[in-house]
Amino acid sequence: MNIAILPGDGIGPEIMSEAVKVLKALGESFEFEIAPVGGAAYDAVGHPLPESTLKLAKEADAILFGAVGDWKYDKLARELRSEQAILGLRKHLTLFANFRPAILYLELAGASSLKPEIVSGLDILIIRELNGDIYFGQPRGVRTLDGGEKQGFDTMHYSESEVRRIAHVAFQAAMKRDGKLTSVDKANVLETSQFWRDIMIDVAKEYPNVELSHMYVDNAAMQLVKAPKSFDVIVTGNMFGDILSDEAAMLTGSIGMLPSASLDKDSKGLYEPSHGSAPDIAGKGVANPLAMILSVAMMLRFSLNLPEQAARVETAVKKVLAQGLRTADIQTKDGRLVGTKEMGDAVLASL
Ligand code: NAD
Repeated sequence: MNIAILPGDGIGPEIMSEAVKVLKALGESFEFEIAPVGGAAYDAVGHPLPESTLKLAKEADAILFGAVGDWKYDKLARELRSEQAILGLRKHLTLFANFRPAILYLELAGASSLKPEIVSGLDILIIRELNGDIYFGQPRGVRTLDGGEKQGFDTMHYSESEVRRIAHVAFQAAMKRDGKLTSVDKANVLETSQFWRDIMIDVAKEYPNVELSHMYVDNAAMQLVKAPKSFDVIVTGNMFGDILSDEAAMLTGSIGMLPSASLDKDSKGLYEPSHGSAPDIAGKGVANPLAMILSVAMMLRFSLNLPEQAARVETAVKKVLAQGLRTADIQTKDGRLVGTKEMGDAVLASL
């Protein structure tokens, strides 16, 4: 099994080495190939997603991705900025379904900013469409209106096939869980959202065992902090999903705990932590590697068909949390503060 390793920028390489350590310890015959991406690739060859990296990603059985971005690249032309690497990979590999589970580990209830009774036992799944919406819509840019005033603009659209394919993924995921699917939109204001909602209702006819409900995105943002446990699976578009999944991440104590998977129609996937490159803590050895390590578990389960190995990794993570080991972002009163490497070593030991 060939795994493309794309560490990226900031804390990306630090957390990636812990994840690769864990993968190697599983004793399977994995082949790893490392390639630059993001700012690291721009510095090396002048582009955030070099042809050679894209080729490697296309040929691999699965892709492990750290994180990209740094403030120092923010002044570059948009097509050269680090974020274009992840957007490009999603688009070129048609990775349209983003799975972001938000699970609160019992030991971390005290690390959440919400009251323990609101979040304890939280286990929700956000499914975000990744290939469409205002993030990719054309035309976009800055234009000059009659009269000389300048105007920035983007275009939001969803085609029927794009909504149908993410709808099927979401209904099927809900069937494997509690059978409750909430589709989040802004149908009271946006035509695109009304269209999204109509298609969801149509696809629901094929899944009589799933209870579909609809919620406006502003209400969903409120309900996620008021009664997050009322959700099971949420499906939403690219932009709303971007924002809501980060909000959901914080319910669990830290974005440093949350893995994600971005899948194509054949379950080939790119696996990455839900967080970014955290330039504020990069190089300090304090980043939490658990989201990256849990992304390895998702990869083993979804793309490499190794569910027992996935469970081993998840159990190892639970054990180190039960032992009281905490990186700074999930520090609780009774926890023992450790750095990135020590946390990775502890997961390895408990494996
Ligand atoms: P971020 O997720 O990098 O950081 C937000 C906060 O969370 C920071 O305080 C950071 O220190 C903390 N944090 C994140 N991951 C952590 C971890 N594993 N352990 C401990 N603390 C952690 O988001 P940001 O600051 O908005 O963005 C920084 C850069 O990352 C930007 O260039 C942005 O574009 C990029 N970004 C990349 C991705 C990606 O690669 N998929 C996603 C989001 C943001």
